[in-house]
Amino acid sequence: MSPSTDPGRPEPDATTLAPPRDARPVSDRGDTVCVIGAGASGLTAVKNLREHGFGVDCYERETGVGGAWNWRHDRSPVYASTHLISSRPFTQFPDFPMPDDWPDYPHHSQVLTYFERYADHFDLRQHIWFGTEVIRVEPVDGDRWDVTTRSTGGYGPERTSRYAAVVVANGHNWSPKLPRYEGLEEFRGEIMHASSYKDPAQLRGKRVLVVGAGNTGCDIAVEAAQQASHCWHSTRRGYWYAPKYVLGRPADQVNDTLLALRVPLRVRQWLYHWTLRLTVGDLTRFGLPKPDHRVYETHPIANSQLVYHVGHGQITPVPDVARFHAKAVELTDGREIDPELVVFATGYLPRFEFLDPRVLGADGSGRPRLWLNALVPGHPTLAVAGLVQPDSGIFTLSHWQTVLFARLLALRVRRPERAAAFAQRVTAGAGERYSGKVKDSSRHWFEVGHADYLRAIQRAMHELEEK
Ligand SMILES: Cc1cc2nc3c(=O)[nH]c(=O)nc-3n(C[C@H](O)[C@H](O)[C@H](O)COP(=O)(O)OP(=O)(O)OC[C@H]3O[C@@H](n4cnc5c(N)ncnc54)[C@H](O)[C@@H]3O)c2cc1C
Repeated sequence: MSPSTDPGRPEPDATTLAPPRDARPVSDRGDTVCVIGAGASGLTAVKNLREHGFGVDCYERETGVGGAWNWRHDRSPVYASTHLISSRPFTQFPDFPMPDDWPDYPHHSQVLTYFERYADHFDLRQHIWFGTEVIRVEPVDGDRWDVTTRSTGGYGPERTSRYAAVVVANGHNWSPKLPRYEGLEEFRGEIMHASSYKDPAQLRGKRVLVVGAGNTGCDIAVEAAQQASHCWHSTRRGYWYAPKYVLGRPADQVNDTLLALRVPLRVRQWLYHWTLRLTVGDLTRFGLPKPDHRVYETHPIANSQLVYHVGHGQITPVPDVARFHAKAVELTDGREIDPELVVFATGYLPRFEFLDPRVLGADGSGRPRLWLNALVPGHPTLAVAGLVQPDSGIFTLSHWQTVLFARLLALRVRRPERAAAFAQRVTAGAGERYSGKVKDSSRHWFEVGHADYLRAIQRAMHELEEK
């Protein structure tokens, strides 16, 4: 494949047909690369592949760009009050800053505006097929891929096109992870996953139980504190609730300064403990459970308001749910509470239903086995973008993942023997972690420390050039 020409979009009556497989006509897209999804990761993939000279067809099941941040999308997990958790400079793409007059933590509508401007600035929309869902991705002819699409919702015929490479950028915050609880089907109250929570009116005047202490669970508990007639917040363990600001600066910026100075983890933990001691103090005084781990051993929760509302009696912290009854919820300490609405803020799981799980090396749990959370052992022309949960924003990481992949594809053309040697490196590195010591749970499958992770990508780029 050569990164030189864009053969234009495939026409339904494409004349360059590869031999039929299963009697399906296949439109051969030559050297073009397929990108799945036009959220943050897909957009940056399209841009970086184009900048490296590749033709790109991007398929997006929705009708606009922005992925999770486009509240019009039916799978968007954002709610009316969603703001960035990571601060502006640690979220934006490195080559496209957010406006200086935007706040430290922009609103989701501003994040969407940012993606729309990014798409326009780099002229990306002409490469995107909106309203088109990828339903199958199959390896063929060595390192090429047959990608089958259809209109979102299943209307119209299926179409298969053959690509030189594929970037999977389908996001990992849209398929709800729902815990199993005894008696849940007997429960007469209302239940919802946080993905269906959009507006505080859904909580107004109700007795609400929020399950889960991720950033979303804490946000919803804070909203319930102000809207619901009562809010219980159930967590499996005690957590460290970090303020969004430290010394007047966004907390991730302070953390990054310490990382840049290479302050050892133990010292950062000690400093963090002291920051919390001097601000919220001893969490158990508020009735919150004592954390059973040190800071940085779970994904950081940035929420300045949760402890405040607990302190004002508007949130009652409770332990894990033991089981549901028709009109009550039994907790693991034996208490029973009677919520009318239960919101499961229990997270999301990745889903790649268009790919055979063996391609991504997924074990029975569905967790892919990749190098740099992006490159796929045994499949040098396949990459995943955005499958990271950093202690900063994701966009910068997706940017560098896709630059690396574009360079790897370009190397396959210029120096195939070097690219082949690099493929061995991908296999050797699969499963490497970049997150220090975090709790071993699906919540932390994709956890990365952004500084370590970016250093690893940088090393990989050097290796690519040297090989
Ligand atoms: C409440 C909340 C707050 C968050 N806060 C932050 C934050 O502060 N900072 C941060 O960096 N991240 C945050 N995130 C994480 C968020 O997921 C990322 O910011 C970002 O959306 C990741 O972009 P992505 O392109 O990888 O995935 P997505 O934004 O999910 O985009 C994936 C795209 O792929 C499309 N797609 C999926 N499957 C198919 C298919 N089969 N065919 C065609 N198209 C498909 C989807 O329609 C979607 O447009 C937050 C998430 C949530 C839920």
